[in-house]
Amino acid sequence: MKTSTFRIVPLPTEVAEEARHVAESGAADHAVIKVDSATGYPCRHCLRWAKPGERVILFPYASIPGGHPYSETGPIFVHAEPCERYGATREYPADFRNGRAFRAYDANYNMIDAEVANANEPEAVIEKLLQNSETEFVDARSVTRGCFTFRIQRS
Ligand SMILES: [Zn+2]
Repeated sequence: MKTSTFRIVPLPTEVAEEARHVAESGAADHAVIKVDSATGYPCRHCLRWAKPGERVILFPYASIPGGHPYSETGPIFVHAEPCERYGATREYPADFRNGRAFRAYDANYNMIDAEVANANEPEAVIEKLLQNSETEFVDARSVTRGCFTFRIQRS
């Protein structure tokens, strides 16, 4: 197996911790949800599906910061209990091989390309998008709901 040219960037731990803190305060835009499906609640911090019976927080996250034409804030889940940040950053997260679209952005946060990957080829799609020298990073998103899942940068 060849060494990957990319690095997986999970949600920063500070962002997950802040969401847990805000959820505890009862903020209306931080919902605590009991998971009822094995593949419905992807945690952006540990990059695993939350398991039925676990609790997750649903909250808005600015995956593309304000002040740009492609600025975007959208709903994401993190485990309500502390979880370990995804550490195998040179490996594509096994839980999310299916149902992901990949969007390439340049250094000014402009979306410059996008592609949907089959389960057997997310690495190939990522590497193809990174071959464009204009690509600064690639975001993995849900094909069906459109939600941000994780970021990918050059290693
Ligand atoms: Zn988690």
